[in-house]
Amino acid sequence: MATSTDEATLFTNQAAAAFALQKAGVIARRQLFGPAERRDALESLAAAIRQNEAALIAAMAADFGKPEAEIILTELIPVLQEIRHASRHLKRWMRLRRVLPTLASFGTTAYVRSEARGVCLIIAPWNYPFSLAIGPLVSALAAGNSAIIKPSEMTPATSAIIARMMKDAFHPELVTVIEGGVAASTALLALPFDHIFFTGSPAVGRIVMAAAAKTLASVTLELGGKSPTIVGPDADIRQAAAWIAFGKFANAGQTCIAPDHVFVHASVKDAFLAALRERIRRAYGDGAASPDLARIVNDLQARRLSGLLRDALAKGARVTLGGAVHDCHMAPTLIEAITPEMDIDHDEIFGPILPVIVYDDIDAVTHQINARTKPLALYVFDTSRARINAIIAATSSGSVGVNLTMAQFTHTGLPFGGVNTSGIGAAHGHAGFRAFSHERAVMINRYSPLPMIFPPYTPRVKRLIGLFKGILG
Ligand code: NAD
Repeated sequence: MATSTDEATLFTNQAAAAFALQKAGVIARRQLFGPAERRDALESLAAAIRQNEAALIAAMAADFGKPEAEIILTELIPVLQEIRHASRHLKRWMRLRRVLPTLASFGTTAYVRSEARGVCLIIAPWNYPFSLAIGPLVSALAAGNSAIIKPSEMTPATSAIIARMMKDAFHPELVTVIEGGVAASTALLALPFDHIFFTGSPAVGRIVMAAAAKTLASVTLELGGKSPTIVGPDADIRQAAAWIAFGKFANAGQTCIAPDHVFVHASVKDAFLAALRERIRRAYGDGAASPDLARIVNDLQARRLSGLLRDALAKGARVTLGGAVHDCHMAPTLIEAITPEMDIDHDEIFGPILPVIVYDDIDAVTHQINARTKPLALYVFDTSRARINAIIAATSSGSVGVNLTMAQFTHTGLPFGGVNTSGIGAAHGHAGFRAFSHERAVMINRYSPLPMIFPPYTPRVKRLIGLFKGILG
């Protein structure tokens, strides 16, 4: 039987070999991996996805019972859309950006060139096991990098198909996959990558950033947390119920930007709860057994979720819908009377449990949001523009959805990311391209007058410096 030391050595060797192969190609890629080659690479990726669509759907269904429609909607379309968007805009993103001279740089020209960072590491989570591994790859390739992908070990069928697809579509000098769990990640994180793109929990995000500090690799951290949702007094209640039910129960709530809990204004509480129950009944009639509801990914996560419920119930909360967990199936669950002593009040829920909290005073709600770590997403349902703007101005979060949930993720023109504990840096579209690029400043001297003030600092030079100070200071 292999020991953990054997396993660590195996991963260290595998990671070092994959890294060395990609590193050896960096200089050649800088010169040869132009817009046409990058577009070809993206086209190969799109073709691989189309060819393997059925296998991908089967893999994600096997890993956690994800419904086919949700796989198409949330795993395949977003990646194909990213590929199309990057292919279309690549040339413009790569174009040298001229910078006008300032007074101090008189006599020079300057530009910024976006250049590939080099060899990048992508570490992915299990909850969107395909799109969160391959979406960042689109940006990495568009920006001219090579990449090593480490998919999540919690979704082994999807991890295996990603490994096979990448092997078939790319030379390992450009893209390679290392499968495994913590030992694989740890071996990879010890290597001097040029950029690390990590998606996962804030706790592991800290480990990744500490590892990156040793090599001074730049990082993009796509993390999680509790995303609050506010239903205001003038919200369109049916619209709010439909979007909140979709955002919370798609992927069985195992979504980084799912509404974590909902604050509902006292004046609309009854109407909102009635509309929400109706929506849940229509969407997932049979509760936990619905074919349109994904499974909880594994026993550990199912036990964590039932533990959250047990703790809340023991401390006085009321489950008003659902609540049962059998064999990793959990029905959409509503819970009321949450208090700060309960774990569910501060842990990221990451499952199909929605606490409903009634409020009268919006200032108390924004105060509570600000007293916690900055959320990845904040959702506001209301028809009063002034109230919506006031909430946005009074809070901070990675993104904001107004009268919708989740859809901000799919807009290729918007940067997607968190802030502090919910993330550092951004992904998608141009923001993703920039995350995987170094903006290199280039300045060219034509007739700069600066040599006039070079030493020795004679009285004449000092007078000139004084003149400069008068003009520039
Ligand atoms: P996780 O942090 O446990 O794991 C993510 C990756 O890190 C996996 O590949 C795993 O193998 C690796 N890993 C785990 N422990 C490690 C360690 N000690 N050292 C090095 N690597 C390690 O996250 P998860 O459970 O897969 O995903 C859920 C979390 O991810 C939630 O917090 C969720 O909010 C967050 N998330 C964020 C986004 C986003 O875009 N911001 C998207 C999806 C999920």
